[in-house]
Amino acid sequence: MNFPLYYKSRQGEMIHLLKQITALESPTNDKKAVDACSSFVAREFKKIGCKVTNIPQKDIGDLVSFEYAPGRLKDADDEILVLAHIDTVWPVGKLARMPFYVTGSKLFGPGVLDMKAGLVMIHSALAAMRSLDIKPQKRITVFVNSAEETGHQAAHEVIRRLAKRASLVLCLEPALPGGKLKTERKGRLVVRLEIRGRAAHGGSPEKGVNAIDELIIQLMRLKKVRAGETTVNVGLIGGGEKPNIVAERAWAVLDIRFWKALDRERILRTLKAWEPSLRGARVKVSVESTTPPMERTKASAQLFERAREIAASIGLALDGGKTGGGSDASIAAGVGVPALDGLGPDGDGIHAENEHLLLPSLVERTALLTLLLSGL
Ligand SMILES: [Zn+2]
Repeated sequence: MNFPLYYKSRQGEMIHLLKQITALESPTNDKKAVDACSSFVAREFKKIGCKVTNIPQKDIGDLVSFEYAPGRLKDADDEILVLAHIDTVWPVGKLARMPFYVTGSKLFGPGVLDMKAGLVMIHSALAAMRSLDIKPQKRITVFVNSAEETGHQAAHEVIRRLAKRASLVLCLEPALPGGKLKTERKGRLVVRLEIRGRAAHGGSPEKGVNAIDELIIQLMRLKKVRAGETTVNVGLIGGGEKPNIVAERAWAVLDIRFWKALDRERILRTLKAWEPSLRGARVKVSVESTTPPMERTKASAQLFERAREIAASIGLALDGGKTGGGSDASIAAGVGVPALDGLGPDGDGIHAENEHLLLPSLVERTALLTLLLSGL
């Protein structure tokens, strides 16, 4: 089967489905809207023979998974986990000002690239496998996160549980510019630095301990953490009460990114060993959230090579690249399963008003996804 041609002839149907999914705007923090969108998507996956599992949630949209493997449900101990998300960064009503439209080879709209097109790709691939009676080698589970943009503990737990029983993970996040896959992602630590000093009158600061002074000293020490390609962004800062009061409290929130799980241990050791520099000051370091890095392992390199061969069979040259951002693939990779990320279409403008995807890549990538799902 010439899948690039197959999907080229079905591009209209794919755009139609993407338009319907985009019309159901689904900002992460609007549970009702997200649920409406995922109910629609679930109905579409049910129509093509998937078993739908709904995991109800209180504070985020319900989490949904689809199972696909006609006739192989019993002996399939090998499983592919496919990761997607339904939430977007765009509020309800955005569509009126940022419409869904196609011009030339570009398709614009809120959330089309990140990552509603990914849902359409999986749906199209599974629908094709069903109608062409292509039996996959492995059982296929699709997990649709409802709160990927903000991250949520409940969703991460489900991803870890599903990843543990899978032999590989495919993630439909958009490609790197030019269509590269994301083979390595940085891990992330969000760390809160809390300083406690002692208040005094601003006219006699020697009677107090200034927490802001201490915080500045602590922030200067961050160069110890910034080693190699480890980056630290001081994203939030606060403290003090009034200009004429010695600040009793000060705080900062840091976003630290690193390539290796070992880096994480080094960073935490460094931070935990920090002592206050001013007499009488106290320093508290706490980790607010952590995402493991998606490291290049032997298994993930092998998986990438297989994908590259499969892509070459349809004339696609596949490259891999690194990115500083995390995704659900990082959560899955954290349990040790190899992952391919960035399998979604090529395009530009994620989280920006010019968000768009390139239609030729939507067709090519769906062809590639079909071959990966059926051949890996
Ligand atoms: Zn995304």
